[in-house]
Amino acid sequence: MAIIKERIRCPKCQHKLSIKINSELDKRHLAQIMDRSLFKVKCDCGEEITLDYPVLFKGDNYRVFYTHDENIPENLQGDGTLRLVRDYADFKEKIMILEDGLNDIVIEFIKEFLIRQLSPDVAVDGLRYDGKSATHLCFYAKALKQDVGCEQTFYETIERRMRFRPIKGFVLIDKDSYRKYMKLK
Ligand SMILES: [Zn+2]
Repeated sequence: MAIIKERIRCPKCQHKLSIKINSELDKRHLAQIMDRSLFKVKCDCGEEITLDYPVLFKGDNYRVFYTHDENIPENLQGDGTLRLVRDYADFKEKIMILEDGLNDIVIEFIKEFLIRQLSPDVAVDGLRYDGKSATHLCFYAKALKQDVGCEQTFYETIERRMRFRPIKGFVLIDKDSYRKYMKLK
């Protein structure tokens, strides 16, 4: 683990707070990542401060690096699926997808497919992976305020039909970039 001590100033009372930043997270932190409590500190004055800093999440066979910086650290490496995210909601979603053993390229394809079916009720970036049941994958549609689903057999069919391009290092895979890394047979 990489724990760094830092001092921040409360935006409300200007008091200086000593905080500990853990820049390497794993499964033990999952719940606190999902509700973002790991990134919140409370000042004595009552102000709640949300922290935002680069974090590496280490899964069993994947790594997700969350950062706003254009450049990623040179020593950043790992085995398995390596992903970069620039948005906290993307960070959570990516961990959920990979933690469920799914391929995020296939998931982005399915999201686009579902959005086409739901259009114009759901905006293009309006779907988030929301977990799986015994038979279905669930996606939360913000505009509809409910989950929409697809059968897991549909996911499996798409995955079988897809060819994936080799990926080196940490890459950002989202609705705009996923097509670069796949081909449909
Ligand atoms: Zn304060």
